[in-house]
Amino acid sequence: MSGEKLIELRSVHKSYQLGKMLTPALRGVHLSLNKGDFTAVIGASGSGKSTLLNMVGCIDTPDSGEIYIQGRSVLSLDDNEKSELRNQKIGFIFQTFNLIPVLNVFDNIELPLTIQKGFDKRQQRERVLEALERVGLSEFRNHLPDQLSGGQRQRVAIARALVTRPILVLADEPTANLDSVTAHKIIDLMLDINERTGVTFLFSTHDEKLMGRVKNVIRIQDGVIA
Ligand code: ADP
Ligand code: MG
Repeated sequence: MSGEKLIELRSVHKSYQLGKMLTPALRGVHLSLNKGDFTAVIGASGSGKSTLLNMVGCIDTPDSGEIYIQGRSVLSLDDNEKSELRNQKIGFIFQTFNLIPVLNVFDNIELPLTIQKGFDKRQQRERVLEALERVGLSEFRNHLPDQLSGGQRQRVAIARALVTRPILVLADEPTANLDSVTAHKIIDLMLDINERTGVTFLFSTHDEKLMGRVKNVIRIQDGVIA
């Protein structure tokens, strides 16, 4: 069901202390995402994209402001509740893929389920096979990450993000380490997954050229949404 509000940020501020210098990363950000949205955050390096995604993903805490996920105030949660929320509801995709090099593709994708617990071996296997098929890597399940191309590694990371069936996938510059053809394919895959499964995506990029098919674009500059 779309139109339902999933994420809301109100007047979020965040600064980082570097030595004596206080660097503002977010300066009063408002953001609202509905269930099923596919949204790109675009901005130059240093504009605050990662900080923003880390706020939404409950990886970092704002200095002030409010963050709601499904109407629930995230800032009132303790650390355990926050990590539970992260594990169960949010999938993460990173610029550098962050796969475990000694685990094969299948085991990398299975990992979040092992951490989350509550699934038996057969359920886990079904979920992993489904995620593998969704990203078109079924034949590569026994490969190690370094036997794959960058684009394939990122598809593994997408499968890993989806395997818990999150409500939200956060992807921080998922295409920055890929050539432009592969980058477009990764965006197309995420769009396709969004359309077919309805999972909400928020991804960041500094590359304007990737915006062709993305309708929902947020521009961030110096920690403020334009
Ligand atoms: P982007 O992802 O768009 O490149 P970031 O959110 O990483 O931007 O950074 C926004 C600003 O905050 C930059 O000025 C950056 O230098 C600063 N910053 C980010 N993380 C830290 C940190 N851990 N310590 C100090 N400064 C930081
Ligand atoms: Mg960044």
